[in-house]
Amino acid sequence: MKIAVIGAGIVGMCTAYELALDGHAVSIFERNASVAEEASFACGGHLSTSLAHPQSFPARPKESGLRRLLAASSISAPLGTSLRDLRWLLAWKSDSRDFEQRFASAQALASYSLQRLHALAAQAHLVYEQSQGQLLLFASEAQQAAYQPQQKALSALGVLSRALTPEQARVLEPALSADLPLHGALVFPHDEIGNCRQFAHLLKDKLLSSGAQFHFGTTVTGLAAGARVALELQGMPSLDFEQVVVCAGTGATALLGKQLRRGALAKVWSSSVSAPIREPLNAPHSAVMDYQSQLAIGRMGTRVRASGGAALGQASPKGIEQASQRLFQILQSHFPGAADYSRGVQIWQGSSIFSADALPLVGPADASGVWLNLAHGHNGWSLACGAARVIADQIAGRAPEVDSTLLQPGRFKS
Ligand SMILES: Cc1cc2nc3c(=O)[nH]c(=O)nc-3n(C[C@H](O)[C@H](O)[C@H](O)COP(=O)(O)OP(=O)(O)OC[C@H]3O[C@@H](n4cnc5c(N)ncnc54)[C@H](O)[C@@H]3O)c2cc1C
Repeated sequence: MKIAVIGAGIVGMCTAYELALDGHAVSIFERNASVAEEASFACGGHLSTSLAHPQSFPARPKESGLRRLLAASSISAPLGTSLRDLRWLLAWKSDSRDFEQRFASAQALASYSLQRLHALAAQAHLVYEQSQGQLLLFASEAQQAAYQPQQKALSALGVLSRALTPEQARVLEPALSADLPLHGALVFPHDEIGNCRQFAHLLKDKLLSSGAQFHFGTTVTGLAAGARVALELQGMPSLDFEQVVVCAGTGATALLGKQLRRGALAKVWSSSVSAPIREPLNAPHSAVMDYQSQLAIGRMGTRVRASGGAALGQASPKGIEQASQRLFQILQSHFPGAADYSRGVQIWQGSSIFSADALPLVGPADASGVWLNLAHGHNGWSLACGAARVIADQIAGRAPEVDSTLLQPGRFKS
């Protein structure tokens, strides 16, 4: 079939690649000049089957509805946040309906996605910066105790983790500062860290050599579904396709207009700072997540990267400045001497689309021939390969290998 993919972030690139593997003629439309220029540009890189990042999924529901409502959220709402975004946040953090099923669905997709990523990398000889394992650090007994229900739930879903003493954690990450207050840690040996942007570029090369067509600098302004789907393009004649997959990240809301319910999606900003490794002995081996600050640190080849913070509303120079200062601080307090700040430092802020129920929208849209693969929240890299295979299987009329019932976009139909 002749299929268009809108968006060349990590989700669009994985989707295009899976569709090309199935023998379709794929065209990719991207408003930027290259792949992975928006949310997928400098993400933390954590490939978390554990969903350990606090923005990966809302906190587990507390016994009382009121406590849940008042509990702090890992996503902040700065002054000036719209009423619509505030309503969204309330739903995201306190909706306890089907919580366990939704969590299990996200976790199953993350595990499947990592398997799929390994299979693709092995088949196509994709060599990218990556390392194995994720360490979750607790500064106090209370923090570790608060995490226990989550660990129990993960263990029931088959996610392997091991509790470590501070000494054992320092064996895994010997460069962790000796001054860091550390009560204990959990290691998720099957989690990984990988360079998302580099992976997207590797897929682009493979797609080009398989005959896929890239339309860079091309903005899709609308979709008109009929016997075929017409892509309306800015400043160009429209083009027809048999199927279209929307992987447009933050651009999806403009494209889909009123098809989705108000308050279904929200744009969340996060930041990362990256710097060349000054001394490898002082740098992390792999992914480290600090429970207290909710910030992540990891090695990205010859660089070290800290990422995190999450805020609704608009990006502002002041917000970027504050977020990056926190990230530099955590890098310095946890891995002093790891980074060389004198050259090649990258400060970046990106926005991802989150859904109100914390699950991505993967499946058919309302209009015939239109499919959605979007709103992966803070897990876009972790879920990209799995979600791409799910959508390719659905387009082929095959049952996906992972249960995608809760991912159906129809749940947010307006
Ligand atoms: C600081 C930060 C750290 C993160 N860390 C992690 C992490 O450790 N692990 C993890 O799993 N996830 C992480 N995430 C989340 C992850 O980066 C995103 O979920 C993921 O990159 C989303 O990919 P995407 O392809 O859906 O979106 P994008 O990468 O934004 O791609 C969408 C593309 O669509 C294009 N587009 C949009 N509209 C149109 C249009 N109308 N016409 C043409 N093109 C269009 C855009 O230009 C863009 O290139 C992080 C995010 C941030 C910001």
